[in-house]
Amino acid sequence: MHARSTSLLWVYVFTLISLMQPNSLTAREDEKSMISAPQTIVLVPLGSVDTGTLEYLKSALPVQFHAAVQVGEAMPVPGDTFDARRKQYNSSKILEHLFDARRDPRQRWLGVTESDLFVPTLNFVFGEADSQHHIAVISLARLHEEFFRRKSDPALFHLRALKEAVHELGHSYGLTHCSNFRCVMFFSNSLADTDRKSSNFCESHRREVEAAMKK
Ligand SMILES: [Zn+2]
Ligand SMILES: [Zn+2]
Repeated sequence: MHARSTSLLWVYVFTLISLMQPNSLTAREDEKSMISAPQTIVLVPLGSVDTGTLEYLKSALPVQFHAAVQVGEAMPVPGDTFDARRKQYNSSKILEHLFDARRDPRQRWLGVTESDLFVPTLNFVFGEADSQHHIAVISLARLHEEFFRRKSDPALFHLRALKEAVHELGHSYGLTHCSNFRCVMFFSNSLADTDRKSSNFCESHRREVEAAMKK
């Protein structure tokens, strides 16, 4: 899902500023050296979520974000976000609940749920992010091979969960979608897109996320 439109303008402005830097390679090296205080990413289980999956994300996410990652206290999936007609949960409303529940605004929250998520304009979403408030959510529901009546594949499931987590956290840092199908910020219209892309940022998005982490 796209980052909220309110933050898109800033991303474009920032991108233009980045492109205008006369010596981008030197600037990038400076950026790397200036990344210091790790920011905390908190994984918030919404409803019942497998501990092994949360632990996998906790160990794999710091590779992409240079941040401390914790597993936070579980919350129930907010009942008022359920749409009885669609039998899905409204991801935008879940983001609002996560925002209300967070006490420390320096924390970046990623909700993780087995519930199927939607936004009104789409059949489903793998996740959604709010770049203004540094909050994101991902759904694991459609990442299981069993969802497609295929044999369980835990390693593939974990990798898909990681890609969706990195993608939505990337949005939470203000990143937009990428035209490079290998970049983790490529928009996944289907699980095939998720399987095709990597869990890594392309060079340009790597620079963007590292710059965003310095703010
Ligand atoms: Zn997206
Ligand atoms: Zn990219």
